Amino acid sequence: MIENNDNLKKLINLSKEKGLKLTPQRMVIFRILSESNQHITVDTVYQKAREEYPMLSLATVYRNMEQMVDAELLTQLDLGGTSMRYDTNLDEHHHFVCSKCGKVFDVYLDDVNYTLDEGRSQLGNARVNSLDLHLQGTCGECL
Ligand SMILES: [Zn+2]
Ligand SMILES: [Zn+2]
Repeated sequence: MIENNDNLKKLINLSKEKGLKLTPQRMVIFRILSESNQHITVDTVYQKAREEYPMLSLATVYRNMEQMVDAELLTQLDLGGTSMRYDTNLDEHHHFVCSKCGKVFDVYLDDVNYTLDEGRSQLGNARVNSLDLHLQGTCGECL
């Protein structure tokens, strides 16, 4: 519970920093994001938000989530599923997706910096801005 509060505070502080207004809709979305696992879809946010905010439209949720991505409160992930996922974990990390249950796990890989350097030199020292590594397999629970 304390952790959820911290997440919520983090989102509120970030949004103030980036100049995003704390509208009631946005507060509802923030709360859902802070209570969810970190890789939620817009549809799930919408379903949950409507429970307390029945007037809310899917378009509004989409627009808000996009603004949050633009303001770098969230990152948008294409993990190969049918819908985009949204991540509130802003630390540099990667993802493992279970192909059985669809769960998404955060993975921290130290060797990735080495891989990045390797990639750069293969590309004639190109500037690599980001690396999106996405592992797929079967999670421990499904095995
Ligand atoms: Zn699984
Ligand atoms: Zn993540």
